[in-house]
Amino acid sequence: MTIVSADLVFAADRWERKHAFVMQGGRILGTGEPPALAERFPGEDREDWGQVAVLPGTVNGHGHSFQILLRGLGDDLGFMGWRDLVLYPYSEGLDREGIKAGALFDFAEMAKAGVTTAVDFFYLHDRGIDNDMAVVEAAREIGIRVVLARSMYDWAGAPKRYLETPAHAERNFRDLHAALSGDRTAFAQPAPHSIHGASPDMVRSGAKLAAEFDLPFHVHVAEGQYERDQSLERHGLTPVGFLDSLGVLSQRTLMVHCVWVDEKDLAIMRDRGVRVVHNPSANAFLGDGIAPVREMLELGIPVCLGTDGGCTNNRQSVFEEMRMAALLAKARAADASILGAEETVLMGTARGGEALGLPIGRIAADYAADLVVVDLGALSVNPSRTAQQQIVYSMQPEAIRRVVVGGETIVEDGKLTRVDEREIVARVRQVTSGWEPVPRDAVVRAH
Ligand SMILES: [Zn+2]
Repeated sequence: MTIVSADLVFAADRWERKHAFVMQGGRILGTGEPPALAERFPGEDREDWGQVAVLPGTVNGHGHSFQILLRGLGDDLGFMGWRDLVLYPYSEGLDREGIKAGALFDFAEMAKAGVTTAVDFFYLHDRGIDNDMAVVEAAREIGIRVVLARSMYDWAGAPKRYLETPAHAERNFRDLHAALSGDRTAFAQPAPHSIHGASPDMVRSGAKLAAEFDLPFHVHVAEGQYERDQSLERHGLTPVGFLDSLGVLSQRTLMVHCVWVDEKDLAIMRDRGVRVVHNPSANAFLGDGIAPVREMLELGIPVCLGTDGGCTNNRQSVFEEMRMAALLAKARAADASILGAEETVLMGTARGGEALGLPIGRIAADYAADLVVVDLGALSVNPSRTAQQQIVYSMQPEAIRRVVVGGETIVEDGKLTRVDEREIVARVRQVTSGWEPVPRDAVVRAH
């Protein structure tokens, strides 16, 4: 057992100066003022980490790890162009080694950026769970926690390797869930892809699995305008309205994106108790728009953050998403007071843990000891009196001194402790050799 004190600690959802917490066996046992904790836990080891800020590790609520291999190939394309010219053709050719190399690459970058739990909404299944397990293996090698949101997909227009029947997808989910049972760092959760990628039967099957295993289920909702238009045309309902008509919305529903939602949709979302993963950078990157986050928060709809895939962002940092969430909400409302730094820190930490149903995202008793340690001597968080805000608004990655998952240090002084970063880069070069970006004249619009 160790009592750790530091200049600034985000303990139990608020910033505290000269504060402390107790860690044992990868868990937090309690927090408090250093003298009070020393009294409560006499004779225990004491460490003073000094001039640092300690936050809960950030929780990345949405991503697709292999997509980072496609980074730069289709930048500045809209969603459809990106999907048809980059995502589909390249994701078809990726073998298991490539999938693992992509996951190592993505998780390595996230870990260095302070992500301690990553959701991988994964769909390159080839009808089994071996590829899913290659992603889990990559997460173990880096030392990051992973939620394998196992995509359930049956729209025949996509690459064949994504596709399963609802019965197949259900069986494979059960196998994956069993393979990870008892694991404290890797978790399986169902993820019917979207209303355009999954049939009503598939979506219902995902919701049913979530209820049976007492888990959330992930689903892309209203990311782009085309999805809303298509849903209105086919069903006479918005994407949220259509999902509601299937009877699948509940507190287990983790809706990804929700950019193109109207007031009626938001009321349904509130009434059903759904949660949202907001991906501000990715939505901006693909030109999809800005999700109405302030409206969601005002209605009491919980919102956490995600980076989305590494080729639609292109940074894999939840701190970046905190900044983007705040800035875009301010810009959208033309009001700087609309979303503050403290609220976005919660969105990137505690809200993510709640959304995933895991004891992560808080420095509080009975939570995992997943931590980000920020050097208060770094230029980008000074003057350090205002570090609470600067961690969101001005911090650069160099300020992240250490990243801890389950009490174990996975990043120290900006370096991954368990893997050789150069080796990952070499693997990535090998997998992507010969890949060419979409020609720029096909991308950039003439003005
Ligand atoms: Zn996605």
